[in-house]
Amino acid sequence: MEGQKNKPVLEVEDLCISFEMYGKGLEKYRLEMVHHLSLTVNPGEIVAVVGASGSGKSLLAHAILGILPGNAKVEGRLAFCGQCLDSAAQQKLRGRDIAFIPQSVEYLDPLMKVGKQVLGTGARREKKQRMARWKQVFARYRLEESVAGLYPCQLSGGMARRVLIAGAVMEPVKLVVADEPTPGLSETLAKETMENFRELAAEGCGVLLITHDIDLAFQVAARIAVLYAGSVMEIAPADDFSGDGSALRHPYSKAFLQALPQNGFCPIAGSQPYAGNLPPGCLFAGRCPKRTDACAGKVEMRTLRGGEVRCIYAE
Ligand code: SF4
Repeated sequence: MEGQKNKPVLEVEDLCISFEMYGKGLEKYRLEMVHHLSLTVNPGEIVAVVGASGSGKSLLAHAILGILPGNAKVEGRLAFCGQCLDSAAQQKLRGRDIAFIPQSVEYLDPLMKVGKQVLGTGARREKKQRMARWKQVFARYRLEESVAGLYPCQLSGGMARRVLIAGAVMEPVKLVVADEPTPGLSETLAKETMENFRELAAEGCGVLLITHDIDLAFQVAARIAVLYAGSVMEIAPADDFSGDGSALRHPYSKAFLQALPQNGFCPIAGSQPYAGNLPPGCLFAGRCPKRTDACAGKVEMRTLRGGEVRCIYAE
């Protein structure tokens, strides 16, 4: 365990996720949705994964947790604190060392009172200890004890979100995977949720924050990975996303930043390519003002100015 102290809490290496699909005449084919994705999360670090919807962000979260549907195929390497994160390990670690904060509060059981859901079965603790921890997490996330007796449909959006986070951290987790934890929340509550992640990171927990909200990601993350059509385009220190984004390396990251309302809301023409009809070479080529014929060749991730980028012309 000593040797694992400085290891990344999460390593994702060359991850590809594909699905078995049925075409015309029930002909089977495989559709790859996530392509050669690599990233790491260190203990005490918040890494945000941002991208438009359909870029593969949630698939990444579900692959780490081992909760993809049965027709999915995962290739590449996943590791938790240096140990292979295969399906047996995922099953063992999920809810114990790895917590999942899902996108939707529909993950709460509508027929069970929320107190019982947060308390869980907690195999690692005696009931007395679990009750003590339960009181701690309720207090920490400003949930009155009376909330325990409510059903999910009786909670406000913000309260339900706090219940989900409370349930996720009942055990002393080392990694939190949060999949779009803020939609539907007011700006104040979204900021509060980010503050909760910052506290978890300060306690040494690694946090993988999946979000479309680059503004929020920028406020708490140390590094931000930008996904486009299932591929990482850039991984950069969060500071590079400040100002006009001139410190960024990839044309898509810059465009993503400039499309924010506070940056003038300048969307780029075109749309993300469909997984079944990807262009050769750079997946962003169809929308990139800098493309040349060379962009149709292989475009690998490379390190550049303290970050990583998938663009042959980035400098
Ligand atoms: S590789 Fe070419 S098309 Fe892709 S982002 Fe860079 S310049 Fe644009």
